[in-house]
Amino acid sequence: MYQRHSFQTDDPRLHPIAEKVLSSQRLSAEDAMALYRSGDVLAIGWLANFVRESLHGDTTYFNVNRHINPTNVCVAACRLCAFGRKKDVPGAYTMALEEAWEIAASGYSEDVTEFHIVGGLHPDLPFEYFLDLISGLKERFPHVHLKAFTMVEVAYLAKRAKLSIRETLRRLKAAGVDSLPGGGAEIFADRVRRIICDHKIDGQQWLDTARTAHEIGLRSNATMLYGHIESDEDRVDHLLKLRTLQDETGGFQTFIPLAFHPANTPLAHLPTTTGMMDIRQIAVGRLMLDNFAHIKAYWQMLTPRIAQIALRFGADDIDGTVIEEKIYHDAGATTPQGLRRQELIRLVREAGRVPVERDTLYRPVTRTETSVTVAV
Ligand code: SF4
Repeated sequence: MYQRHSFQTDDPRLHPIAEKVLSSQRLSAEDAMALYRSGDVLAIGWLANFVRESLHGDTTYFNVNRHINPTNVCVAACRLCAFGRKKDVPGAYTMALEEAWEIAASGYSEDVTEFHIVGGLHPDLPFEYFLDLISGLKERFPHVHLKAFTMVEVAYLAKRAKLSIRETLRRLKAAGVDSLPGGGAEIFADRVRRIICDHKIDGQQWLDTARTAHEIGLRSNATMLYGHIESDEDRVDHLLKLRTLQDETGGFQTFIPLAFHPANTPLAHLPTTTGMMDIRQIAVGRLMLDNFAHIKAYWQMLTPRIAQIALRFGADDIDGTVIEEKIYHDAGATTPQGLRRQELIRLVREAGRVPVERDTLYRPVTRTETSVTVAV
């Protein structure tokens, strides 16, 4: 058990925050600003680790998943993005359905429990392509959880199919979508969105789409892209909006802070994030989002080294094997495009934590040489 006196800081602003954290009181916007502005990142990490260990002990979750990006053709031209392409330009691709199903099956010997499926906003692909993609995957891999389409993609599909968001989500769910990823949230503040992703749905539409997904029984994650032109106030606003919606629906599973990778984007002149910025973001997320069960250190964006450290700063999840990550590698990520299950386990163990393989819904997965069992 932790003793109150083991918290130490020379930053007086952190003392009242520590009192609140240690007595499970909710932190305010002013507290969040102090967390962003304090120089004592280790003390902030101590507090975040206190919350993380109170919730999960040493348990650190990971999964065996595979990313599928069916197309990089996109009508939007977000300045934050190195992945999207206009159609008919070099490097643009769209998978035929058979190709996507083949890719899902190929190249990896261990059974995946999740396909993470996201892509560009293709101007010509009909809604049926996406429904067929999903139902075809479900038919071929009935035990694999399909985590598919960001709120941004859902809103675009709805617009193109002339359906409501609710009906679009209903049809995707009926086709086999099991939950939604958390991408496209970026930073909710209009001022920032206008510059980094002005063709996307706005922050309120993202939140409304997530609310509708949760209402019809689809859980989702939530992200925040940091380290570009946003201010501390913008990040606080983003976190509080997520917390408010989570109070309402309880439908978010995991918060994933995403470090901005500027290479090959129109914002390439911006510096990359630093290690201190990355671990502070994990810690502030853990402290502010008291109603989120999980905080993920997404190793692909943070690097496995920073992700390991993050496991002591509030994160309880290190994401999955991924296999063939494209989006951040187009933006210059130098991490491997996938990690083996054993490599993830080693990273977690060397951080002094206990690795637990999970499925997308955080149910423990047990493997033998011949079987994969999910505890329900
Ligand atoms: S971030 Fe998404 S919506 Fe924006 S250009 Fe890239 S793929 Fe398209």
